[in-house]
Amino acid sequence: MSLHDPASLRTARLWRPRRVVVTAAARDHAHGRAILARAEALGLPVEALPGNRLTGLRHPDPRRAYIEAKSTLAVVVAPPAKLKLQPIPPSADWRVDLAEGCPAHCQYCYLAGSLAGPPVTRVYANLPEILSNLASYVGRGGVTSASAERAQEGTSFEASCYTDPLGIEHLSGSLSAAIRHFGAWDAPVSLRATTKFAAVEPLLGLDHGRRTRLRFSVNPVAAGRFEGGTAPLRERLSALGAVARAGYPVGLTVAPILPLPDWRAAYDDLFVQAAEALAGAPDLDITAELITHRFTPGSKTVLEGWYPGSDLPMREDERSRKFTKFGSVKYVFPPELMREMRGELTRSLAERLPMARVLYWT
Ligand code: SF4
Repeated sequence: MSLHDPASLRTARLWRPRRVVVTAAARDHAHGRAILARAEALGLPVEALPGNRLTGLRHPDPRRAYIEAKSTLAVVVAPPAKLKLQPIPPSADWRVDLAEGCPAHCQYCYLAGSLAGPPVTRVYANLPEILSNLASYVGRGGVTSASAERAQEGTSFEASCYTDPLGIEHLSGSLSAAIRHFGAWDAPVSLRATTKFAAVEPLLGLDHGRRTRLRFSVNPVAAGRFEGGTAPLRERLSALGAVARAGYPVGLTVAPILPLPDWRAAYDDLFVQAAEALAGAPDLDITAELITHRFTPGSKTVLEGWYPGSDLPMREDERSRKFTKFGSVKYVFPPELMREMRGELTRSLAERLPMARVLYWT
């Protein structure tokens, strides 16, 4: 199948949670009821909870708790704290959460250690409130306004910090609603989302106004074994090409960069394939974000509980310790390897995708 073949979009696998629970408050919102209707139309079992607490998700066996949480979709109202936005450099000025949690099973998951309790996917029913709240943040923030490269994006909002919005879009509809909201917004603003999924067909015809940058999180094929439940690389690249041809600004989030066997050729091949997928995209606007693998003591403990037996390299003695601005420790690759990978990947990217603007390496 060619990377331009629309059939590869239609065959994208869609998540079917084993359990869908909806709180009483979420049923008071039209967006919550629309999610319910989509779940029922797909024949999924839906439970209307009598109150607003999610119950029955704890399990004495952590592995069992993980499996049950990962197969549950909860439709809830976002707590008030979600309406107080946090800055999120270097990705965007502000973080906006349309949902929290993700149905995939990446052995390096960025959410490990950030989520409280079992990793249930929670989608927010009060979406209009979440979107209208963003207006008070326009003109504030420092990532896009501080960089000449990104000044034309206006105030930017990142929707993928705590979820993969495309992975649940067939149930939530939240990403489409947010894209339409930004497309119609008469202000210098932009939305950003990144995904390891590929079911972009519902997004292709939206009035996005080139205000949403859809980035695809990619790594060489060999890293796919660490990314259970996500779309295969080929489908992600095909989706990248489709949204670029639909006029969206796009991006590659190359993450987590790993020194896989034969990594130089593997990353070079990745960029060759991405260039092939993007052929024919008019007015192509593409960025690249390059993010190396790192872990913290806390995320490693959570991941070892979620994925016992994983062979993802996470040995502290093979890493350098770095302190975050909050004083906590993270483990990154040693400086020499970092320099080598940075040099190789940026050189290869410049050769294969010269139109891509590299936003950062971290
Ligand atoms: Fe975690 Fe992202 Fe993988 Fe989902 S797609 S499991 S959020 S790393």
